[in-house]
Amino acid sequence: MAWVTGHQLRLYNSLGRRTEDFTPAADVVGLYSCGPTVYSFPHLGNMRPYVFADTLRRALRWKGIPFRQVVNITDVGHAVADSDTGEDKLEVAAARERRSVEEIAALYTNAFFTDLAALNVLPADEYPRASEYVEQMIAFAERLEELGFTYQLPSGLYFDTSKSPGYGTLALLDLAGQRETGRVEHVEGRKHNSDFALWRAEEPGVRRVMRWNSPWGWGAPGWHLECSVMSMALLGEHFDIHTGGVDHRELHHVNEIAQSEAFLSDGRPWVPYWLHNEFLLLNNAKIAKSAGPVPRLADLVEAGYHPMAYRLFLLGGHYRSQLDFTTGAMDGAQATLRRLIARVAPLRPLPHVETLAGARAQLSASAVTAVGAAAAASAAAEAGAAADATVTRDVVDDKTALAYVEAIDAAIANDLATPKLLATLQEALRDPDISPEGLRVVVAAADALLGLRLADLDPAEVDQRRPATDLAPEQVQAIERLVAERTQARKEKNWSRADEIRAELDALGVQVTDTPTGPTWQLR
Ligand SMILES: [Zn+2]
Repeated sequence: MAWVTGHQLRLYNSLGRRTEDFTPAADVVGLYSCGPTVYSFPHLGNMRPYVFADTLRRALRWKGIPFRQVVNITDVGHAVADSDTGEDKLEVAAARERRSVEEIAALYTNAFFTDLAALNVLPADEYPRASEYVEQMIAFAERLEELGFTYQLPSGLYFDTSKSPGYGTLALLDLAGQRETGRVEHVEGRKHNSDFALWRAEEPGVRRVMRWNSPWGWGAPGWHLECSVMSMALLGEHFDIHTGGVDHRELHHVNEIAQSEAFLSDGRPWVPYWLHNEFLLLNNAKIAKSAGPVPRLADLVEAGYHPMAYRLFLLGGHYRSQLDFTTGAMDGAQATLRRLIARVAPLRPLPHVETLAGARAQLSASAVTAVGAAAAASAAAEAGAAADATVTRDVVDDKTALAYVEAIDAAIANDLATPKLLATLQEALRDPDISPEGLRVVVAAADALLGLRLADLDPAEVDQRRPATDLAPEQVQAIERLVAERTQARKEKNWSRADEIRAELDALGVQVTDTPTGPTWQLR
């Protein structure tokens, strides 16, 4: 069996803090990845969780494990500073930019999809919007109320964490300590500091822009509620894997688990595997929006780096290691990418490989052919003809390539060890004993997991140090706005307006490409 499936996939589970064999509970693995709050442009640190989740889903594909991935879009409910009271992040952004919350959501959702596409992140099966699930969130909170897990205050409906056995296990919380001294935000009447809002009621005299009526008055859902509701709606009550940034491990995911297990009340853990990626550090500090401008992917491209160089930089570190973002590290990644593409380009076209089984099949197929050729050659030698030395070497070469494929499998199965996988690829590229055919399969196999576009990335594109036009941030924003308007016009089937905007973008030298996850743009 081991021969068929390769190395056992092992993943580090934050729930219990140990590396475990991954054993799916269902025929199709449900994978939920916490998505962005779309109130500003995603910065480089924001994108790490999605490259990590993409690596995980590529690993599942490699192992032939069917899966379904959901990434939510938070367009309502996320209050500033992750607090239970106070203004919604999107409403603050709308006021600041003098736009509607819908425009803010459309603009920054589009910017997120643009970065995902540039980073070659494969599209999820679903990108549910929180604003479209508010009715289900209200029903979910009503059920929790019926079950006695909540209490109501003038500021909203709260989840009583003292009623949740095992609250905070994921975060290794000292329960009593957390309840008394954990978070600093003061909420009038809240019974324990760890209790959190399921529904945030409007303050008297303050009318929210995004507001819904509920049994607890007009207001908006609490931030944690949406992920429980949308994941269960799209993946079923229990599913296999939940991912996110390590910051979610301490609060957001703790609360998701508490309310979901209370809602289900079936005595089973809600989700068995919780995976978290570490932070990206900027100047040795965690990237936080409050610390000033943080580079975006577009800033890197403007500075002459290819998006794949950023992906390579991320994969060069293990997802559970903090990564220090520096110019030197990016220069190194860009140089490595350039050398990699230069080395791989002569091997193109690469064969199509997505799975371990597929890679092995291609290699064993050529081995069989070579063995057949060797048998023919030895028959010819017996007949007095000179043996063809190259035929014999082909058999050895395929074994060499197969060994690299097994090493790639071992690396990815070992909690997604992408640095080891990259090293294995580099080793194969330098190996004088591997055949070009075998090497092609090894490169394609490695890239099925790395997603560095080794099959098609143009060497000239990577060499380009600066794009022809340098765009100011305001210009980028103007372009993003036009692209978002065009998307809206297309949604409303207002084709003439969509064409008009396309012409405007054309005039700016901007080329828009529509992808399954939304449009992306680049300068011509
Ligand atoms: Zn979430």
